[in-house]
Amino acid sequence: MYKSVLFFLYLHTLFYTIVLEQFGNIKLPVPIKKIVKFLGYRLVPYSSFAQRHNLTYKETVDYFGTDDACSDYEKNTNIYVVYFNDMDKAKIENHRIRWNIAHELGHIVLGHHKTENTRLFRNSLSFKEYNRLEEEADAFASYILVPYIVLNFQRIGMPEDIARICKISATAAKYRFTDFFLWAIRINAAPLGYGTR
Ligand SMILES: [Zn+2]
Repeated sequence: MYKSVLFFLYLHTLFYTIVLEQFGNIKLPVPIKKIVKFLGYRLVPYSSFAQRHNLTYKETVDYFGTDDACSDYEKNTNIYVVYFNDMDKAKIENHRIRWNIAHELGHIVLGHHKTENTRLFRNSLSFKEYNRLEEEADAFASYILVPYIVLNFQRIGMPEDIARICKISATAAKYRFTDFFLWAIRINAAPLGYGTR
């Protein structure tokens, strides 16, 4: 389904439902942690987990199997939990944390846990299937953190502008920049698009 028009339409609708309707006029950067909590999911920083279980940083990363983030579906309590690495300074400084949380929210909202039940384990999925879910979660992250419709009213001249305004990493911003411009050209030139009449 990824990259199909329907999928992007779906993400777009999700963005409106989740962000715009619940938070009113959107201000950038998108309050991703607030959104996760608003939707009723739990956010647990690695630092709290490490402290509670008396683990070192390395033990914590090994336990979760990633130094980014992961999410669990707890069947008995019917609760989704997003664990994210807040112990790596670089990830805080380059806003990687925001992307990771949005990516995990994507897995939850797009129902990826439904097929797998609990955590998404790389080895329980085929390589192709795992990559598809990852791409979908990344697409969700970029839609929610870099809402084109809002950016359209900002002065965007280079990738750094997107990185600064949306608080995402320079690398992620570089990818969004070209795509945003292609989108903006299409939207602003459409016969019935706003800004043309
Ligand atoms: Zn993922």
